[in-house]
Amino acid sequence: MRKLIAIQNAPNPHWVGDGFPVRSLFSPQTHGAVVSPFILLDHAAPYRFGPAAQKRGVGVHPHRGFETVTIVYSGEVDHRDSTGNGGHIGPGDVQWMTAASGILHEEFHSEGFTRSGGVMEMVQLWVNLPAKQKMAPPGYQTLLNAQIPTVELPDAAGVVRVIAGNFSGHRGPARTFTPIDIWDVRLNASAKTKLTLPEGHTLGIVVLSGAVRINGVETAGEGQFALFAAEGGAIALEAEGEAKVLVLSGEPIDEPIAAYGPFVMNTNEEIRQAIVDFNNGRFGDIGAFA
Ligand code: MN
Repeated sequence: MRKLIAIQNAPNPHWVGDGFPVRSLFSPQTHGAVVSPFILLDHAAPYRFGPAAQKRGVGVHPHRGFETVTIVYSGEVDHRDSTGNGGHIGPGDVQWMTAASGILHEEFHSEGFTRSGGVMEMVQLWVNLPAKQKMAPPGYQTLLNAQIPTVELPDAAGVVRVIAGNFSGHRGPARTFTPIDIWDVRLNASAKTKLTLPEGHTLGIVVLSGAVRINGVETAGEGQFALFAAEGGAIALEAEGEAKVLVLSGEPIDEPIAAYGPFVMNTNEEIRQAIVDFNNGRFGDIGAFA
């Protein structure tokens, strides 16, 4: 069995813009390279917004050197960026944005959601890029719910939605730069299951709702992050009531991390360059709403 290293509590929430009350389960400041290739995970737990006229969210800002993966569980998010890409994602959809050499974007509640109000729940995960791809051209993938395979777990334990990587022969739609598995796992009440991820890869699980007993030894509840040793066999999960769990696994990128706000590079010099490039308008232009 793969050894559980620690179950960690989420810190207090903070607001990203006025649209996303998030808890950062890990970040460069708290975890550094321990969770490589992952950098940061923000969970916006279910939060009810009243109807409004003005879209809530976060206005134009830059990124360089990594990818942002936005998973919507409830509500609707609109995105626009300086490469001309944009999208509208709702429950079950995922947006995979490769900032790489540099992008400007904005992230807002959709117009419909703003008008009607409702419950927003989402995750934003930052995935690092290897040094040789940090200055590659930016990219954008919309992964709609319908494209994401839903695979039954044995013994009617629940389902795995394969966002990236592969589960039981089913491949997720995300194109990744390094080997990564991201699974959205729903466990039925009191269900037990075993999950096997590639040995040597970083492995962590985020409990988004409910609680799960891990390896029969410790229980992780809502908003907690469980980190496992890199070596070993399967992990055993037993849901206490229904549970919603995000499984993150990936080959570590064994390179230095220099992180500053929206930039994640390998050296401080590259961070300084990112700031200079941003200040000189080299991240492009997002333009006005048509
Ligand atoms: Mn952003």
